[in-house]
Amino acid sequence: MISKNKIVPPASLESPGLKKKWNIEDSENLYRIKGWGEPYFSINAAGNITVSPKGERGGSLDLWELVEALKQRNIGLPLLIRFSDILSDRIERLNAAFARAIARYNYPNVYRGVYPIKCNQHRHIVESLVKYGKPYQFGLEAGSKAELMIALAELEPNSSESLLICNGYKDLEYIRTALLARKLGHNTIIVIEQLEEVAMCIEISKDLEIKPVLGIRAKLCTKGMGRWGSSTGDRAKFGLTIPEILKATQQLSAAGLLDCLQLLHYHIGSQIAAINVIKDAIREASMIYVELANIGGNMQYLDVGGGLAVDYDGSKTNFYASKNYNMQNYANDIVAEIKESCEQAQIKAPILVSESGRAIGAHHSVLIFDVLNIGEVDTSLPDPASSEDHLIIRNLWETYENITVENYQEAYHDAMQFKEESISLFNFGYLGLAQRAKAERIYWACCGKILEIIRQQEYVPDDLEDLEKNMASIYYVNLSVFQSAPDAWAIDQLFPILPIHRLNQEPTNRGILADLTCDSDGKIEQFIDLRDVKSVLELHPLEQSGSLEKKNYYLGMFLVGAYQEIMGNLHNLFGDTNVVHIEIQPNGYQIQYLVRGDTVTEVLGYVQYKAEDLLEKIRQQTEKAMQQKNMSLKECQLLLNDYEKNLASYTYLA
Ligand SMILES: *Cc1c(COP(=O)(O)O)cnc(C)c1O
Repeated sequence: MISKNKIVPPASLESPGLKKKWNIEDSENLYRIKGWGEPYFSINAAGNITVSPKGERGGSLDLWELVEALKQRNIGLPLLIRFSDILSDRIERLNAAFARAIARYNYPNVYRGVYPIKCNQHRHIVESLVKYGKPYQFGLEAGSKAELMIALAELEPNSSESLLICNGYKDLEYIRTALLARKLGHNTIIVIEQLEEVAMCIEISKDLEIKPVLGIRAKLCTKGMGRWGSSTGDRAKFGLTIPEILKATQQLSAAGLLDCLQLLHYHIGSQIAAINVIKDAIREASMIYVELANIGGNMQYLDVGGGLAVDYDGSKTNFYASKNYNMQNYANDIVAEIKESCEQAQIKAPILVSESGRAIGAHHSVLIFDVLNIGEVDTSLPDPASSEDHLIIRNLWETYENITVENYQEAYHDAMQFKEESISLFNFGYLGLAQRAKAERIYWACCGKILEIIRQQEYVPDDLEDLEKNMASIYYVNLSVFQSAPDAWAIDQLFPILPIHRLNQEPTNRGILADLTCDSDGKIEQFIDLRDVKSVLELHPLEQSGSLEKKNYYLGMFLVGAYQEIMGNLHNLFGDTNVVHIEIQPNGYQIQYLVRGDTVTEVLGYVQYKAEDLLEKIRQQTEKAMQQKNMSLKECQLLLNDYEKNLASYTYLA
């Protein structure tokens, strides 16, 4: 893991005694909203998150009010909100960045981006992207047969110059369909990823008497970085090595089809955080492109794949959750590098293609979920130790009483040792349950007192760094990490998480999040920070609304539009969440689409249970119980009604 440059935060100008009242700027800084959220997310005067889906071009809404309004319409949490205007804005920005780069470097050709469907295949998203992409001749990229079926149906043939890039492993049907689609007017380009595909393409095109447009995916030597670094190099899963590329051109040439080779493609992995890696790759690829043109390929397109990163933590560094460049730097470097290579070799500059998924999709989705309750470490003091208490308890008590700014580190070690001794004493039968409980309570009271001192210090000794984490409150949230943020669990991906309201109040708690699943991995305990990551998140205590009722506390997980939904799984049978698509209108907003989350019946269906069969089995059990006089008719009715209601309900807590 690469760690970020240490940046020392500006020293506070206030004297410690005069604490200023918390305001929304404090929240902005704490949660780093400007870093990852601009121009779409900010905080309004009421302390709620504001969403401006069109960026600076106007129209915004209060996220908390939106969630409340949706709940009024019976659309419960957890809820995924997709802002269609953000998708549109992302496409516009990417195209504008390439247009500016092309103008700036006088690049003698155009940019034709495609959206890689695998990033988020949901129909409403693909359809929106096709619609918003039309003015830019934005196309689609398919990485599998199923995705090709989507792309062919959703792209309008003949309507424009948009491309349909066909990647992934291919069989005969895949290639034949892609080829025949050219007759419909689709601009399909079949990218050869495996040497065997060359022979297949040659044979099928002879059979059908249709000339294909072919591309080759190159395995670059440039090392990708981070999580997907292994997408390049000799052992990468996809693409042809240089000797294989040569072989492919020879086979095409022998078949008289070398003029069909028009595109060079590479993809060095997703979320490339460092611009120098992007530059190295484009340099290597430009040279391969030039060489292919020189040996007779009819080269027209250079496809730089995906990898354009998203700044999840807003630190603008080459940390894995960030990126040390912006979209414009990215476009500039690609355009400049290709132009130079082609000029030197005196060949025609290619149409530029990129396949950005993450950078287009990530920002537009926000997952909203509520906090069910909070588990806190009890640091309240028990009765003082007396002469009747065991010596170990008296020692712990003395430790507690004598904790100061000067000795807190030593006191921490003492307290820890006494606690461990108390457990040994208990295990050997020298300490009763009540005495052990008292020892533990004093220990946690010590930790609480020490933590308060630590929070005032500029420097925390290493051995005390975990204390904040160990004492963190557990926020139980109405969500499955496995369904809604699988990358947070699988690969420690970071997403910005923060409350969507109360941001004008100081978040005085430190917490981690625990989800609804019975899996100990179902939690989030890494959060974005300016330096590296932090192990606890600043959160508010729950507010009381009645004697028993707590007020709702909503958290948002941001930038989840890329990959999370489709990689999500049914762990513990928590299904898809509710989804709404929101479109900004001149006088507010409109719900474009509502996609209801899975019901219990639906998720049971995925694992081959039929709701009616289950219900029938329970009905038979109740009959038996009634005959045996274990249950009354009324109890049976109640049970069966609830069983049926549960089957029809959302898989999350109401
Ligand atoms: C995954 C993938 C992409 C998308 O990458 P992002 O980093 O999301 O932009 C593009 N092209 C190919 C071939 C891919 O496999």
